[in-house]
Amino acid sequence: MKEYDIAVIPGDGIGVEVTAVALKVMEKVAAKHDVKLNFTEVLAGGCAIDKYGEPLPAATLETCQHSDAVLLGAVGGPKWDNLGGNQRPEKALLGLRSGLGLYANLRPVKIYDALKGASPLKDSIIAQGVDVLIVRELTGGIYFGDRGRTTVDGYATAYDSEVYNEFEIARIAKNAFEAALLRRKKVTLVDKANILESSRLWREVVVKVAKHYPTVELNYMYVDNAAMQLVKNPAQFDVIVTSNMFGDILSDEASMITGSIGMLASSSVREDSFGMYEPIHGSAPDIAGQDLANPLAQILSAAMLFEFSLGLSAAAREIETAVESVLKRGYRTGDIWTQGTEKVGTKRMGELVLAAL
Ligand code: NAD
Repeated sequence: MKEYDIAVIPGDGIGVEVTAVALKVMEKVAAKHDVKLNFTEVLAGGCAIDKYGEPLPAATLETCQHSDAVLLGAVGGPKWDNLGGNQRPEKALLGLRSGLGLYANLRPVKIYDALKGASPLKDSIIAQGVDVLIVRELTGGIYFGDRGRTTVDGYATAYDSEVYNEFEIARIAKNAFEAALLRRKKVTLVDKANILESSRLWREVVVKVAKHYPTVELNYMYVDNAAMQLVKNPAQFDVIVTSNMFGDILSDEASMITGSIGMLASSSVREDSFGMYEPIHGSAPDIAGQDLANPLAQILSAAMLFEFSLGLSAAAREIETAVESVLKRGYRTGDIWTQGTEKVGTKRMGELVLAAL
């Protein structure tokens, strides 16, 4: 029997509730596939500040570094909102990304047939389907480039630099092409090559990487147009690959197309099979501790963990199919509830998915 070590960071608020549900699903699926998962629970975020006085204790990072994958709930909440920059719970996320070398963020944006009504877009647009994977560079670009303040012509002046080298671009491009091979074989590079020199380097490097993937179609789109096309005709996209800042903005826009933040999973990965998996939502303090949270995003994050870190695609498909069947049968948590469907809580939703597996 194969064994894997999984570091589990439930975090704060609903992170704790949705993670508890996802772990049960993981245990059941693992047993079906003759795999043993050793879970080690560690603290990060507000709960770590309360216990250890810092958002990311060294022991937490160390446990993650020695694991095969990390499952993360969410961190943060009003209790810690007034702390200084370095002491904020969200600092744990940046520390985990850099401490684990996670340079690629993969965010699938998919509309389930049963949830088409939740999208803010017109039925005629949604009817064509939405199934996009956004591959965002996570550790370079303007968020990490040189920045500062100066005085020019007597005016206070600030600058932030977008800096990328060919190595960083090539490795994220490879993630995008590899993912496209398993999907509809189309990669769209989103940039601003009509203006930015860094975007022109992205194009040169991505074209070179594309030569190794002759069956994948590559096209380009300026980021301003991509922002429009995502709401006008999202069905045209398969895999989008882009820089840190463009990806940050476009992935949030794309998520909203589905209309249900409680459904969207994500993963942050590096060259080997290691990854950190988490729902895109936060700790939702407004509904925390009330059994109201939708656990499906976290369950779908667990599916990504099985696929990318454990290489068990069949297990991932089983989880996705179970989620789809529960939705088809009309069960909904409050965030995705509509007239005529049955409202259930976090735990009950988890039990339904377990039963469907
Ligand atoms: P949020 O995602 O926590 O909540 C936004 C809204 O969506 C809320 O009304 C919430 O009730 C609802 N919601 C979110 N997830 C849901 C789910 N699974 N089921 C049902 N409803 C859900 O974003 P926010 O309110 O801006 O942030 C709250 C806290 O979370 C802040 O401290 C923020 O910094 C933190 N945060 C953490 C992460 C992370 O850990 N990755 C991400 C975003 C925000």
